[in-house]
Amino acid sequence: MIKKKTVRDVDLKGKRIIMRVDFNVPLDKEGNITDDTRIRAALPTIKYVLEQDTKLILMSHLGRPKGQVKEELRLAPVGKRLQELLGKDIIVCKDSIGEEVKKIISGMQSGDIVILENLRFHKEEEANDPEFAKELASYADIYVNDAFGTAHRAHASTEGIAHYLPAVAGFLMEKEIDFLGKLLYQPAKPYIAIIGGAKVSSKIGVLEKLLEKVDALLIGGGMSYTFLKAKGFEVGNSLVETEKINLAFELIKKADEKGISLQFPVDNLVADRIGADARVKLTDTNVIPKDMIGVDIGPKTIKQYKKEIKKASTIFWNGPMGIFEIDKFAKGTIQIAKAVASAKGTTVVGGGDSVAAVNKVGVADKIDHVSTGGGASLEFLEGKELPGIKVLEDA
Ligand code: ADP
Ligand code: MG
Repeated sequence: MIKKKTVRDVDLKGKRIIMRVDFNVPLDKEGNITDDTRIRAALPTIKYVLEQDTKLILMSHLGRPKGQVKEELRLAPVGKRLQELLGKDIIVCKDSIGEEVKKIISGMQSGDIVILENLRFHKEEEANDPEFAKELASYADIYVNDAFGTAHRAHASTEGIAHYLPAVAGFLMEKEIDFLGKLLYQPAKPYIAIIGGAKVSSKIGVLEKLLEKVDALLIGGGMSYTFLKAKGFEVGNSLVETEKINLAFELIKKADEKGISLQFPVDNLVADRIGADARVKLTDTNVIPKDMIGVDIGPKTIKQYKKEIKKASTIFWNGPMGIFEIDKFAKGTIQIAKAVASAKGTTVVGGGDSVAAVNKVGVADKIDHVSTGGGASLEFLEGKELPGIKVLEDA
């Protein structure tokens, strides 16, 4: 297991704390925050740190400004929302480094919160530039990382800075490491994974690793058709990654050799096009008619997967079962979300779209752990050492 020091393990009293958070929230065209989950998620650590008579400096990225100042990606709206949530004034800087920032920080009183401007306005952030990291480090005495979603990136604020300050995890980071660590190192058996989403190619690493860990692997979504094709079935116009058919075949073979139950849709919802006005029908088998597209798993598959979910002691779900953004094609994903939510086993959901699905169905609070990391949670489960976690002090 990975055990890292947290804010509980260091004496914060009277110190200046610089904390990397993930305030990369979705914004609408007018720049309003459409979902503040990520800001709320950071509140427990923020409150805990403030209770220790500290000065707190928060930093985050927002969107992809690629090293340039983008007015629409300033962190001011985020600061405003955080201010509302905490009921406390917050100082939002117009830059993340420089004289102005230094002045603001040297004037901080105990209990003050400062947010630095979007880190990615400086290309040095993503380049993990040591001077930039050192500059950030100079503002504080202790570094806290509570941004699991960017822990798989070695950036100045996630990796570089930790070389210059005592570095510990926040509560969000701690929870991610605990839950995902359990899946990776000591899952209660039977352990099943449900993997869907668009493409095999984006999940090869995790599929390979899961085949060493799970008792059953249930496949759904767009990626199932590359597997079904590899098994010799007709898949019509469904999404197929031709260049991954061989790999799919290898994975099927590997599961077979290891005696792991690798399951595919046994029936499908098929459509003549992708859109709300599509003509749809159910197939009774995993054969897709010519000119039709597989857009969701069918009722027999839902029933079969639900049975597996019920039996399991540990369940990991990543990737929707169909094109759930279109209501007509969302049933499989909704049913799996509900089944996972009511499962008695330990449940973990990861992945941007899967988490969106769980939220849409309204069952997020019935899942033991909804991971805040898409790419980060998959890389963690592949067994990769995430740079933003590696640099934190071992407990
Ligand atoms: P996550 O973000 O949870 O990891 P992915 O990004 O891998 O999930 O995949 C989500 C996308 O997969 C969704 O946009 C969804 O529409 C798409 N998808 C699911 N099923 C299919 C399908 N049968 N054909 C094409 N795309 C699909
Ligand atoms: Mg996604």
